[in-house]
Parts: sequence; C-alpha cells; structure tokens
Amino acid sequence: MNLSFLARLGIGKQNSGAFDGTWRKTKGGTLTVRSPIDGRAIGTVQMADAKDYAAISKRAHATFLKWRELPAPQRGEFVRRIGEAFREHKDDLGRLVSLEAGKIVQEGLGEAQECIDIADFAVGLSRQLYGLTIASERPQHHMRETWHPLGTVGIVTAFNFPIAVWAWNSMLALVCGDACLWKPSLKTPLCAIAMTKIAADVLGKEWAPLVSLCIGPDLTVGSALLDDPNVPLVSATGSTRMGRIVGPRVAQRFGRTLLELGGNNAIVVMDDADLDLAVRAIVFGAVGTAGQRCTTTRRLLVHERIADALQKRLVKAYAQCRIGNPMDKNTLVGPLIDDAAAKAFEHAVAQAKQQGGKVVQGGKRAKVSRALAGGAYVEPTIVRCNEVLPVMREETFAPILYVMTYTDLEAAIALQNAVPQGLSSCIFTGSVRDSEGFLSAWGSDCGIANVNIGPSGAEIGGAFGGEKDTGGGRESGSDAWKAYMRRQTQTVNFSDS
Ligand code: NAD
Repeated sequence: MNLSFLARLGIGKQNSGAFDGTWRKTKGGTLTVRSPIDGRAIGTVQMADAKDYAAISKRAHATFLKWRELPAPQRGEFVRRIGEAFREHKDDLGRLVSLEAGKIVQEGLGEAQECIDIADFAVGLSRQLYGLTIASERPQHHMRETWHPLGTVGIVTAFNFPIAVWAWNSMLALVCGDACLWKPSLKTPLCAIAMTKIAADVLGKEWAPLVSLCIGPDLTVGSALLDDPNVPLVSATGSTRMGRIVGPRVAQRFGRTLLELGGNNAIVVMDDADLDLAVRAIVFGAVGTAGQRCTTTRRLLVHERIADALQKRLVKAYAQCRIGNPMDKNTLVGPLIDDAAAKAFEHAVAQAKQQGGKVVQGGKRAKVSRALAGGAYVEPTIVRCNEVLPVMREETFAPILYVMTYTDLEAAIALQNAVPQGLSSCIFTGSVRDSEGFLSAWGSDCGIANVNIGPSGAEIGGAFGGEKDTGGGRESGSDAWKAYMRRQTQTVNFSDS
C-alpha cells in the first residue's frame, strides 16, 4: 500500500493529538492507530489529559473573544480559503478516510467533497446571518432580533464520518463567530489531525486556536469538555448511548447540546414502485459503508404482493458485491471498523435467528485474502422476518437488512415508525397519494423523509438530523446555523418620553 499521502497531510509516525495554535507536548498516554483494512499500525498519537484540555480551552476562548468582533463576511473569507485548501487536499483526504475508517475510496472522496460543500455553504451564509425586525406595540420604538456569536463549540465526532461531521460543525461555527474545540473518536485521530492542520494553516498564527483539537479518552478529556463552562454548545455525534450521557450532563450546567445520534432507517416499497430504482437504492443504502452510516438502510418494508420478487433481485445483487480492500477501486464493501463491530454483527444475526428471522443472504464473516486477515470483514446480510423482532429495534452498526411485508400504506407507516430512532426514511412509489401520505403529519416520524430516493446521502443545503432517540439536533444547511449563535431581542426607544 502506498502511504505517501500521509506525509502530504502532515501525518508522521508519531503525532501530537493536542492543538491550540501550536502542537502541544502532552501527558495523556500513547494511542496506537490501526487501519481497519488489515489491522496494521499506521501511526501513534500522543493523547491529551484533563490538564492539557483546560489549557487548550482557555486559549480557544481567548481567541473567540477577538474573533467575534471580526465582521461575519471577513470570517467567511477565511472559511472560503479553508474550503479551497480542502479542494487541494481532496484526493489525499479521501484516501486517509479510506485507510483509517475503512470506507471504499469513492466514499472517502465523497466525504472530502462534503467538507468542501459545507465550506462553500458557510461562505454564503456569512453574508446572511439574518435577524428579524418586529413591529413594536410602543410608539417610536424599534424592536429587532440580532444573532450574536456564542463562544467555543465543543465538537464530539463519531468514527464513521471522521472529517465531514467536524466540517459540518466547524465551518458554520467559524462564520457564526465561534471558536471550535474538537474531540474526535479515538478510532480515527489521524483524520482529525490532518483536517486541523489544513484549517490552521489557512487561519495563521493569530486565529489558529479557533480550530483547537484535543484527542484523549472519554473519561478525562471527554468529561472535561462536557463540564466546561467555557463551552456553551456541545455538538455531539455518535451512538444513542453516548447521547444519553452527554445530554443530561451538559444540561446540568445549562449548556446547550446538538445531538446527532443513532438511526434505524427504513425503505418502504409500494407495489407500484419502479423496482430498478428501488433495488439500486436498497443495495446502496444497506451495503454502502459496510452498513456503518447513521443513515444506513436497516429495514425494508415491502408490499406483500411484490416481496418475494424483490427479495430475489436483492439476493442476486448482494451476491455480486465485491468484499475486500476498500482502497481497491473494484471493491464495494470494505471492513467493519474493528473486531468488536464484527462480534456485534454476529450477535445480532444469532439473535435474529433465535427470534424467528430467517437469514436469506450472508450472515457470516466474509472470506478475504490473507493480506486482509487482520481486518473485520462480514457478508452483507438479509434477514426475512414475519414480525417486528426485538433485534430490529436496535441499531447494529453492520450491513444487516431486515425485510418485512405489509398490506397497505397505513400499516407500512406504522412499521416505519415502530422503532425508537427517528433519523431517515423513504418510500418508493409512483402514487402521489401514497407519497404525500408518507410525507404528511401522520406519515414518517423521521427528521428526513424522501420519495424515490434512499435514506442516505443527504445534501448539504438541507438541515440534517433526526427525532426521538436520534437526539433532535439539526446541522449543516437551512437555518441550522442558529444553533451556533445566541439570539438577542433588542428594543430601542427613539422618542423623547
Ligand atoms: P460512539 O457513541 O461510540 O462515539 C462517538 C463519540 O462520542 C466519540 O468521539 C466518543 O469518544 C465520544 N464519547 C462516547 N462516550 C462519551 C462520553 N461519556 N463523554 C464524552 N464523549 C464520549 O459512536 P461511534 O461508534 O464512534 O459512531 C457510531 C454511532 O454514531 C452510530 O450510532 C451512528 O448512528 C452514530 N452517528 C450518527 C450520526 C448522525 O448524524 N445522526 C452521524 C454519524 C454517526
């Protein structure tokens, strides 16, 4: 494997995991980073401890106090240049995502593109942080709503989007006048170091602490971030389990959270659907990123009249998916992030069988070449079920698709909504009545609902996030920027009484 791109991204064999304008020498222990492709060590990171965290947070806050005074379009100009730098490094970033998170290269490049897209979006936004003017009930009074910078935004990220989630948050936060302090997943620290270097180079000495980085364990660095009064907003992406800890803990100090948690997404296929379109979307949605997307298709709800025919086509399509090295351009399915994830896959398949499900495709660890023996590869799996199994209500971060039938739209919607999570959903149909029903108030209860498009691959322009156990947060497009600012209602009396 040619890893020369690592040096171009400023990644060495040994790396500091703490940045606040300079890369700090820290005392939080050494982390060995392994590639999920073959389990090989690809570098080490010197982690931070709680004391390092405190120093980094202080520096970020001091820089925020100056940054907030810079006019927003000038802040946008910095973000424009960061976006340009992402463009320059796009190929290398895509490869790094592939190496460290195990995504196929095409998906790694797609993730790098999302960073570019959100930077572009944020640049435009820097001239559109609009407030309202409101008619005052008092004569000669002027009332308006203004949005002010908030402070330092703590950004906690999951392993499966190791660069884009930070970019979605930080590009908006920067134009909003905030500083960012990033605590990435310990499974993907090199991506975090590379992105921080790119952004910090553009920001230069004065502003580099705006993209602070603190890599360290949840119990020390993570806890320090959650309890930090200088961090008014914690934007945390990860499992619902993590959200249950982060939400109440930050709320205790009246801090704000933006939670982007687990999903359990379904595709509904009506009997009048274009099946070519549906099959492509199901395979991409269920198998892509080896089932490790928050928006992965985990449940397929099919009209009983077409269920057997659709299942047959899916089994055939699954059998053609090439499993292997994600850096090889012919591969469609790469590894899971680690062996624990493969064990969780095996456990879920065993539970599904025990609960009455029938495995019709896959279900086992995949056979791969000896060179990849250190990775955790599994077969994309289809389980046919006659009822909602308890295991279907959980998010197993692996390529398992549960297939169930229904008889009418109301039943399909009830099944779609019958899980604790509420991230993304979609329906395949040619009927306006059914698609509008699915999108109506009594339809899908998710933050995202699509027609004739799968549940993943959201565009940057829309607000992204979900309801219920997905946490309720919204980030990236639309008016998601408001989470990164504080609202002030201002009244001016220009009368003489
Ligand atoms: P995870 O919950 O294990 O970890 C996510 C992040 O939270 C990591 O940085 C981790 O170190 C941190 N964390 C965990 N416990 C913490 C604590 N007590 N204090 C502070 N920080 C803590 O998730 P993961 O395995 O990295 O990622 C997969 C999960 O993320 C899936 O559930 C997936 O659906 C979810 N996800 C959601 C979205 C979304 O936008 N909704 C996007 C990507 C991933």
